[in-house]
Amino acid sequence: MTPLVCKIIWLAGIVCWVIIRYPFHRKAKRNSVFISRYGRRERSILGFAGLCLYVIPGVYALTGFPGSLDRLFIPAIGWLGLLVLCGGLWLFFQSHADLGKNWSISLEIRERHALVQTGIYRFIRHPMYASFFVLALAQFLLLPNWVAGVAGLVGVSILYAFRVRNEERLMRETFGSDYVHYMTKTKRLIPWIF
Ligand code: SAH
Repeated sequence: MTPLVCKIIWLAGIVCWVIIRYPFHRKAKRNSVFISRYGRRERSILGFAGLCLYVIPGVYALTGFPGSLDRLFIPAIGWLGLLVLCGGLWLFFQSHADLGKNWSISLEIRERHALVQTGIYRFIRHPMYASFFVLALAQFLLLPNWVAGVAGLVGVSILYAFRVRNEERLMRETFGSDYVHYMTKTKRLIPWIF
């Protein structure tokens, strides 16, 4: 394992992310939006997350900038990064598969929106956000740079912190006691713990 191989693995992970999401994006588009909270605030949060998850690490992977903030490269950490990346991509795929046409990039309720409580959603309410944290951890392990490596964790934490309460409020407004009951049975990110 070398720093170059780690960068290639990280880039391949981004390609997989796009390949996984695209068919679900197309499928969800056929279920038109009924309520949307996709305003300026949501756009800014998503833009910031995109900067941290794609642009900053992308610039680093392709140009090596900012090389002065590189950290020590340890091959075993790179291998661990590959393992974590595979786990994150699996969780990302599975949450899309279970959420199906109810998925939105933002806070939205679709015309035929169903409350999903099965599959991975039986254990946690936000498996897709959990997958973002795992993928951001993979970014940290694969890119030995204090800016490019850490950026993903910062971006995902901000996205999660600004979104999760609003999303749960929207779900409560839409599904009422069904969602409240679902909340009593599940944790947000880590089964039975958090
Ligand atoms: N927070 C979830 C979903 C992210 S996608 C996760 O991390 O897995 C965001 C959209 O999913 C929101 O617009 C919301 O309307 C929808 N959503 C969230 N939880 C849902 C659920 N249990 N069933 C159906 N739709 C859900």
